[in-house]
Amino acid sequence: MKIGFKPILVTLGLLAGLTFAAQQWGYPAWQSWLTEREAARIEALKSMPLPAAELPGRLDKDRMMQDLSWMAHPEREGRESGQAGALATRHWLVQQYQQIGLQPAGVDGYLHQYEVQEHIQFSGVFRQRQRQIEAISNAANVLGRLPGKQAGLPYIAISAHYDHLGVRNGDVFHGADDNASGVAAMLELARYFALNPTEHPLLFMALDSEEKGLQGAVALFRDQAIRPEQLAFNVNLDMLSRDSERQLFAVGTYQHPWLHPLLDQVQQQSSVRLMRAHDRPWWRAGRTENWVNSSDHGVFHRHGVPFIYFGVADHPDYHTPRDTSDRVDVTFYHAVSETVLDFIKLLDQQLAAKAQH
Ligand SMILES: [Zn+2]
Repeated sequence: MKIGFKPILVTLGLLAGLTFAAQQWGYPAWQSWLTEREAARIEALKSMPLPAAELPGRLDKDRMMQDLSWMAHPEREGRESGQAGALATRHWLVQQYQQIGLQPAGVDGYLHQYEVQEHIQFSGVFRQRQRQIEAISNAANVLGRLPGKQAGLPYIAISAHYDHLGVRNGDVFHGADDNASGVAAMLELARYFALNPTEHPLLFMALDSEEKGLQGAVALFRDQAIRPEQLAFNVNLDMLSRDSERQLFAVGTYQHPWLHPLLDQVQQQSSVRLMRAHDRPWWRAGRTENWVNSSDHGVFHRHGVPFIYFGVADHPDYHTPRDTSDRVDVTFYHAVSETVLDFIKLLDQQLAAKAQH
């Protein structure tokens, strides 16, 4: 049988058209692609009773709230990358790093300053999605380190972006949850680990320009301020301080299934629900969004660095002027930060044990 060239072309064209349309819609509702085990895990988590929020109190929640409120203060003008509020925050972060006793790990002291040229960025399977990356100047990541107990181990890098959206039409976008919460938690973790050292050295990274297309993290690797082989793992913190359901998403177990038992162990002593989701590729995603590239961990992932991202679900105040420090749920925020601390301690032990073999 002879098949004409035209019908093949038409079929291929139709298939390409359908795939393109599916990508434009985003995430088709193929719930059945969740395996039974995954669906059962989600159901079990949702109905699981949580222990009362009785915490060991290793992290000082009042100091965390002070730091968060300083960054989310109207005088910081929404910390837009390259603008006065972000520069003031950067200077303040350097002071915090010094007081904590972090060693400088930037290019110029604690700082890694960088520029971004205007360019077009493509994404998607057929790379048809494009976005304009605006030029950025006066931007800088703030990097500090703590030595580990074991020589020769690579860093566990704890990252949180300190920039936010700035002022728009006269409204300050305070960015209390996004992401003063992540940075204040990172600082408090640094204070804890300065007194309670881990096996691995720790790298604390307050990253800039996340809201402008993850450009701070991109510049970090582009300028070789850090090389992927220096990193054992990236823990990215972005939006930790409020959720009406007391849920915290842990993103990255699809890419790194070995994290499941570790998270199970952390869950036992946590009063927040550690949801594992938002990391499936589009053909396995069901109705949930894929967050693998939604914050700086995406850049670490692209460079082959294992990652986990901790963050809450989007809330009605997300990316609005209403994301203010008085709307933070202090008890939840504290519980989340203690949970992240537990995770880092277990991760450090497990990776150190693996490195010995
Ligand atoms: Zn953010």
